[in-house]
Amino acid sequence: MIVMDGKAVAAKCKAAAAEEAKKLKHQPGLAVVLVGDNPASRTYVSAKEKDCHECGFASFEYKLSAETTQEELMRLIAQLNADEKVDGILVQMPLPAHLSEKEVLCAIAPEKDVDGFHPMNVGRMTTGDPAFEPCTPAGIMVMLKEYGIDVSGKRCVVLGRSNIVGKPMASMLLRANGTVTICHSRTPDMSAFTREADILVTAVGKVDLITPDMVKEGAVVIDVAMNRNAEGKLCGDVNYAAVAPKTSYITPVPGGVGPMTRAMLMVNLLRAAQQRESN
Ligand code: NAP
Repeated sequence: MIVMDGKAVAAKCKAAAAEEAKKLKHQPGLAVVLVGDNPASRTYVSAKEKDCHECGFASFEYKLSAETTQEELMRLIAQLNADEKVDGILVQMPLPAHLSEKEVLCAIAPEKDVDGFHPMNVGRMTTGDPAFEPCTPAGIMVMLKEYGIDVSGKRCVVLGRSNIVGKPMASMLLRANGTVTICHSRTPDMSAFTREADILVTAVGKVDLITPDMVKEGAVVIDVAMNRNAEGKLCGDVNYAAVAPKTSYITPVPGGVGPMTRAMLMVNLLRAAQQRESN
């Protein structure tokens, strides 16, 4: 069994992005918009700023009050779309309930949509055209490649169908010629599917959801979830201690998918900056 070291692969990706950026005429810049005072969002935003700093990229933080109106937020996005210093725009989700996330995502210029959530990028990714791809599944694909895991012809099972993880993950595995099944909360007898998986990606958000009886001997298990167990410790969906010995490769939580997600944002930002210079 091999533990996939997301931290190490992420460090390699960020170092490569930093090196590539030296060839640019301008410094890549990320605008991060945070509305309200959600503590988890604050932590994510400061992590993204730290990554920018580490790669030699600029980051511009826009902290707005929880009372910000849709109109004010849309005005800021229009301003960032036009800002020459800004290559990528990231609006930290979730937004306060009175704001429309959909409207905000659609307002970001597709060429600055480094999160890959704009419908144009989602569509292009699905049809296999060049696009900014959502960072979490993109990071998983990089990690699979890094460990020499060929998806082609494999039975892939994805648990969860969110727009940010499950659906794009399934789409990317399909593009890599996997045979893909998506399970969700309405899937009866989910373990009948998971037991058949050569590659199992779980993105549900339930502690100890995946037990050894649900996993095929020698499977690759990718745990996307970030949960807190009864002791308050960060953990995934997989009962790691019990499942890991059955797997050929497994990602730990923390230190697996999370660092890759962060690294892919830097890779997407670099690409946005490169594309802007080549236009
Ligand atoms: P989400 O939007 O809440 O989606 C969860 C999915 O799980 C839904 O599709 C839901 O089905 C499905 N589900 C719920 N209970 C289930 C069950 N008992 N069996 C099978 N499927 C079930 O969550 P998300 O945003 O995709 O995130 C999923 C997890 O990944 C969370 O723990 C989140 O914190 C983590 N995450 C980690 C990273 C990272 O970088 N490591 C990034 C993003 C998210 P329905 O659609 O039927 O409701």
